[in-house]
Amino acid sequence: MRGTRLPATILGVGGAMLALAAPALARPRLIPAPPHRPALHRFLGRPGPSPWPVRPQIGAPGLGDPFFPLAGNGGYDVLHYGLRLAYDPATGVLDGSADIAAVATSDLSRFDLDLSGFTVGAVSVDGRPASFTRDGQELQITPARPLRRGLPLLVSVSYSGAPTPITDPDGSIEGWVPTTDGAFVVGEPQGAPGWFPCNDNPRDKATYDISVTVPDGLTAVSNGVLRSQRSSRGRTTFAWHEAFPMATYLATATLGHFEVAQATVAGVPSYVAVDPSQAADAAPALAELPDIVSYFSSVYGPYPFDAVGAIVDDAPDVGYALESQTKPNFDRAPDEFTLAHELSHQWFGDAVTLTTWPDIWLHEGFATYSEWLWGDHTGQFTPQDAYDYYASLPADDPVWDPPAGNPGTPDALFSDSVYIRGAMTLQALRVKVGDPAFFRILRRWYLGNRYGNVTTPQFIALAQRESGQNLGAFFNAWLYQEGKPPV
Ligand SMILES: [Zn+2]
Repeated sequence: MRGTRLPATILGVGGAMLALAAPALARPRLIPAPPHRPALHRFLGRPGPSPWPVRPQIGAPGLGDPFFPLAGNGGYDVLHYGLRLAYDPATGVLDGSADIAAVATSDLSRFDLDLSGFTVGAVSVDGRPASFTRDGQELQITPARPLRRGLPLLVSVSYSGAPTPITDPDGSIEGWVPTTDGAFVVGEPQGAPGWFPCNDNPRDKATYDISVTVPDGLTAVSNGVLRSQRSSRGRTTFAWHEAFPMATYLATATLGHFEVAQATVAGVPSYVAVDPSQAADAAPALAELPDIVSYFSSVYGPYPFDAVGAIVDDAPDVGYALESQTKPNFDRAPDEFTLAHELSHQWFGDAVTLTTWPDIWLHEGFATYSEWLWGDHTGQFTPQDAYDYYASLPADDPVWDPPAGNPGTPDALFSDSVYIRGAMTLQALRVKVGDPAFFRILRRWYLGNRYGNVTTPQFIALAQRESGQNLGAFFNAWLYQEGKPPV
């Protein structure tokens, strides 16, 4: 995620800097993306079903995230979401049906999905009607028969209503946000239940088929590859397929009037959708998209997904951009640094994803540092220039608190310090361990963890292994201590 305030701060310094040569980076070995693992393989690696008879439990209503304890649910693991949505901006009504393939991880008499708002029409489990109740964003489902641990289940939910945007602890809005010609659909950190029933926790990644039906003339853009686009009786259905594991908050279905440009970038299809009102302003940054993707591929490792692109909308109520998987969403025309930020999240955030939200610096610190690398690559300023500028700020500047590794409360999740002090942590690490070890750490962090979930202690352990240095005190000072670290 990024607001639009930070680049001006950086460029205020960097723009005046002398152009310096980019660092000589060792070229990473070209490691092809792993073949897509069919959902069945995930079953095969699991323990078999529990012995019968069972003593089924009620699945927990949350997964205990320190910031969002009720986000996600216990007792099952989603493998695939099949969403069929229809939306008409004239009425503001979203009609949805969700087929959710999962595997039970407990014996369950009841379990929850997360869904905010809407009227739920019907719920079935494995084809049998199931009873359900609502409690806040918990959709509590009681299947006709208890579920056995280790066995697959298919949950189907039909729902309808005018989506209500979700307000975050910091006051920003997310979810399904209506625009003048459609909707801007973003989900970090808790917007996904605002448009589809889900296990809304970044630990439960799944693959997706998302089809969206809109009035002819509108375009609906979602994650992954466009499988088909068909018009019938005044409406057009866009069918998208995301073949790689994706956290719920990275799903999108932004729709409206868009100019679409399709191409091939880094060997995968690129789909860029731009609101006509933003087209002229967005053109310079979007022209850099192929170079940004290939540059980060050369630094971090191969691009993680089988599709790339961008969605540039006119969503003035939103005020930030988000790294939706394969198609980052921009609320307005981005500059090149905002585009680089969100594209770098495809590596750090989307492919390599936090386990719990307080570790958000693993996304935002890395994406901000990626902006600094892009500034260096394009000869505008170096990461050390940016570091030196911020290091000169006084001890009471908001750039220092809360500490990047411990935002403390959910309203501080996207604090400036998470971004900037987080990026400074990486530059300080680079200086401490040297370029070869530093870039080896970043590449191995990505290649060893892509498509999964990570924690800050895992990053510290990797940095210590690759550098041969004890970095405990270093990271403690940079990530966890309040106030200005020893710059
Ligand atoms: Zn970000």
